[in-house]
Amino acid sequence: MLHFFLVSVKILTMEIKIVKERRKTLLLKIVSREEILVKAPIRLNDAKINNFISSKKKWFEDKIKKMESLEEFANHFYFDKYIYEFGEPIMETKELAIGFSSFSARKKNKVIREQYFSMFSYVKDRVNEYAEKYGFKVKEVNPCVSTCKWGSFSSSKEMKINFKAIILPKDLIDYIIFHELCHSKHMNHKPQFWKEVEKYCPNYKVLRQKIKEFSFLLKTPF
Ligand SMILES: [Zn+2]
Repeated sequence: MLHFFLVSVKILTMEIKIVKERRKTLLLKIVSREEILVKAPIRLNDAKINNFISSKKKWFEDKIKKMESLEEFANHFYFDKYIYEFGEPIMETKELAIGFSSFSARKKNKVIREQYFSMFSYVKDRVNEYAEKYGFKVKEVNPCVSTCKWGSFSSSKEMKINFKAIILPKDLIDYIIFHELCHSKHMNHKPQFWKEVEKYCPNYKVLRQKIKEFSFLLKTPF
C-alpha cells in the first residue's frame, strides 16, 4: 500500500511520502530538500501518523538547516574553474591543456581527474612517512575512485585512498591516513580502534564532523 499526500505540517513545501508496510515502528527519512519519507506500520491510522510528523517538526527544521549549510559550503568550490589542493585553489583548469575551454564536459572531467591523480604522490608520501615513523605495516598505497568512501584498508595490507583526498585541508588528509593506518591494527570501528586513532589525531571527533562538510566532493562529476 502506497500513499502520497501533503500534510499541512509547517514544513513548507516538502512533500511527505508515506509508505505503509509490515513494520512495528515509524521511520522518518529526509530524502531531499523536497521530500520526506515516512514508513509506517500498515494498521497505524493517518491521524496518528500526522501527529507523529508534527511532533518531529523541530527535527526536520534542524536537519534541513544542516543540509542548507552543507550546500552553502559546497558552493564555495568551482571545480570546473580551479584545481584545488589542501582546500585552496592552486591553478586554473584552463591551464591544464591547450583548448581546455572548448572541451566537452566529459573530456574536461577526464583532464581534471588526471590532474588530481598526478597529485596523489603527496598522499602516498605521507602514508609511507607515518607508517615508518609510527611502525604501521602497509604493503601498498593506491588511489581509488569511490563515490562513498575516502579510504579503505584490506586484510592484505593494501591501503586505498580516494584520489580526491588531495583537495581536502591537510588535517583531514592526515585524519584519513591515520584512520586507515589504524585499521592495520583493528579491522573494525570498535572503541579500541578509536583509541588508537586518538593517539595520532587527538581531535579526531572534530575532524570526523569536519570531513562531512566535504562529502559532496565524493559525488562531483570528475
Ligand atoms: Zn574505518
